Amino acid sequence: MTLQSINPATGEILAELAEHSAGEIEARLARAAAAAHRWRFTPVAERCKVVARLGDLLDAEQQRLGRLMTLEMGKPIRAGAEEAAKCALACRHYAAHGASMVADEPVADDEHRSYIAYDPLGVVLAVMPWNFPFWQVIRFLAPALVAGNVGLLKHASNVPQCALELETLVRRAGAPDGVFQTLLVDSSAVADIIADPRVAAVTLTGSERAGGSVAETAGRALKPSVLELGGSDPFIVMPSANLPLAIETAVKARTINNGQSCIAAKRFIVHRDVAERFTAGLVAGMEALRVGDPLDPRTQLGPLASARLATELEEQVRQSIILGARALCGGSREEPKSAWFPATVLIDIPENAPAYRDELFGPVACVFVARDAGDAIRIANSTRFGLASSVWTNDDAERDRFVREIDAGSVFVNDMVVSDPRFPFGGVKSSGHGRELSELGLREFTNIKTVRMRIAGGARDAATE
Ligand code: NAP
Repeated sequence: MTLQSINPATGEILAELAEHSAGEIEARLARAAAAAHRWRFTPVAERCKVVARLGDLLDAEQQRLGRLMTLEMGKPIRAGAEEAAKCALACRHYAAHGASMVADEPVADDEHRSYIAYDPLGVVLAVMPWNFPFWQVIRFLAPALVAGNVGLLKHASNVPQCALELETLVRRAGAPDGVFQTLLVDSSAVADIIADPRVAAVTLTGSERAGGSVAETAGRALKPSVLELGGSDPFIVMPSANLPLAIETAVKARTINNGQSCIAAKRFIVHRDVAERFTAGLVAGMEALRVGDPLDPRTQLGPLASARLATELEEQVRQSIILGARALCGGSREEPKSAWFPATVLIDIPENAPAYRDELFGPVACVFVARDAGDAIRIANSTRFGLASSVWTNDDAERDRFVREIDAGSVFVNDMVVSDPRFPFGGVKSSGHGRELSELGLREFTNIKTVRMRIAGGARDAATE
């Protein structure tokens, strides 16, 4: 069996890589387990140095790495280079602050000297998606390495070259043998790897289907999991908002990464007083995007990551239109079997349509008209997802209500949703569980250990030390 690397812009097969055999998987698991024993006792300052060097490499080679991402999954080349730079930022963040995140934390306790220790868990399996082929991996890996864990990566099958490049970069950064390895396997191999006693935990970023399957296997094996799944994020616009800025941001937030971002704004919930102006601006902005070769730095919208994904998206849009939705622009492919899907705006979407219920992973904006703030919150929460949200208002009471009442892992006010290593990232409901990034993300894969030592002579002795 092979994993194919295909340029979605052209359909050209770039590489075919043999999947790892059962023997190779076993060898990699054994290396990971051996490395885990050594790495956890490597001083945290050394671990941070490796992560800092990884950041330097990602930064220095961002153009080359960006090109690799573009070739394998079609994102505009500037976005690829920016992704590598963002990975560098996360590495530097954890290299600078990681030691304090895992430092022992004293707890006041009269007769004892007590503290909380953060021990690594061991081998963490990461099952990752293709949409941000470097960022998704670094987001898990930088904190995991600093915390003393080692990583095994099962990347999406369509980005095997990115997966191998990541392994090479970590090695070049000075990580010892086995600290981070790529497994070239397809999803059918994942359950056995999770169940292997040498694997301590699993993190998955991907679809609900994959998340459910991985969580089930991890649950059976009684292993912790972090799940970062899909989203259908609301973008609420109220009359007091700065409308031109909201429109400009809406176009960007919907089409970033060719519309294939979990935290892309997907449902535009607009107060009826500004709905017409907002929708006209959104359509104009979507139609004005420069579509073209993703290797051209001027390109704003490239192809989806594969023709299969474009077919699935087109079917969701087609079904929605059959059920009553209207396409104000776009709606179907010019070239039926290609990965190219046009920027699309849908309106009048009924509740039973895929565009209402499901995640649309491509440049399709869905507009909903709300009567007032309460109605906007009702629409925002009327989905099984709860990843992130963006609300546009300059009314303080309205803003506080949105922050309190929207069921999502984050609320951004008058701004576009982004991930940032300083803040926890994750969702509620079908968008997953657990958090990545910040110190909360780092601690997901630690043994939070209570240490309580009785001091000879009691409180007085302890106090005089
Ligand atoms: P996907 O099809 O679920 O694939 C993600 C990863 O899971 C791939 O490595 C895939 O391997 C693997 N996988 C698929 N089915 C599996 C199964 N039954 N058991 C074990 N592993 C399985 O998702 P995708 O199409 O790559 O990514 C798009 C989805 O990811 C969207 O829903 C998006 O919202 C979500 N996402 C979420 C976040 C977040 O942070 N919340 C970030 C980015 C993307 P194969 O490639 O071999 O099938």
